[in-house]
Amino acid sequence: MLRAEFAGACLPCPAMERYRITPGSTVHLADHDPDDTSAFTGGKAAAKELAKETTQRLEELQELLFAEGRRRVLVVLQAMDTGGKDGVIRHVFEGVNPAGVTVASFKKPTAPELAHDYLWRVHPRVPGNGEITIFNRSHYEDVLVVRVHSLVPEAVWAKRYDQINAFEETLAAEGTTILKFYLHISKAEQAARLRARVADPTKQWKFNPADLAERSHWDAYVTAYEAVLSQTSAPWAPWYVVPANAKWYRDLVVGTVLVEALEGLGMQYPPPPPGIDSVVIE
Ligand code: ATP
Ligand code: MG
Repeated sequence: MLRAEFAGACLPCPAMERYRITPGSTVHLADHDPDDTSAFTGGKAAAKELAKETTQRLEELQELLFAEGRRRVLVVLQAMDTGGKDGVIRHVFEGVNPAGVTVASFKKPTAPELAHDYLWRVHPRVPGNGEITIFNRSHYEDVLVVRVHSLVPEAVWAKRYDQINAFEETLAAEGTTILKFYLHISKAEQAARLRARVADPTKQWKFNPADLAERSHWDAYVTAYEAVLSQTSAPWAPWYVVPANAKWYRDLVVGTVLVEALEGLGMQYPPPPPGIDSVVIE
């Protein structure tokens, strides 16, 4: 019943395709509604039920990925501040075995990191066989914050789109499934979330005055994100622009895309050890 109510929970998921950026297309974020919840019509209670189903399915698929031990999954999360990267990590992955999932957070580069090329710190953190790795921020910061603040000359960052495509193509050709999510919130929603952080003593620790400075560069970030989405959505590493003003919808979209992608791998449990049929356990 739920599956009929939310086309996105069906496999394949045509409803989720609307959020996938077609490689080579030009993206204008103004054309993407951060309040969109149109793929789901079942109401809050049904949404909760569906989220539970998605979480369980992801748990099973992650175990299968681990058991099979020969494929790798890289999930890239990017967003404006307060966009919900942490929320996705907490909610979408709440059911999975922590042993098989790693979160790699990319902060301001350290001195040793700055003394190398920008991919130097990224490559060692990509997933190995049987693993899911979630990038909380990523190498895309090197064409986002770096571009917005002119941290390197344009002649340097401008080459990085092609370099990133080549890097990701290499990972994909060697067996990594790559899924990239831009969690799309509006500027007004960011204001509301920042206000909520300031007002709530249990959330004040999350408030970072630097986020206000970044907020003043909102339009420059939009331009930088549009360049990323237009130039780096590839068949082997698609971007999804996820409507993220409604947290429950954001989580459902990301979870459903992940489930579909993992289903699509056609994974199999490894064959049992020979002679298992005649094993007797005393
Ligand atoms: P949260 O605020 O929810 O804890 P976060 O991802 O915003 O999560 P912060 O420590 O607040 O974490 O911010 C990390 C900062 O590091 C961001 O401002 C980001 O732009 C910056 N950063 C990441 N990569 C780079 C980079 N390559 N060059 C410069 N700054 C970077
Ligand atoms: Mg932050």
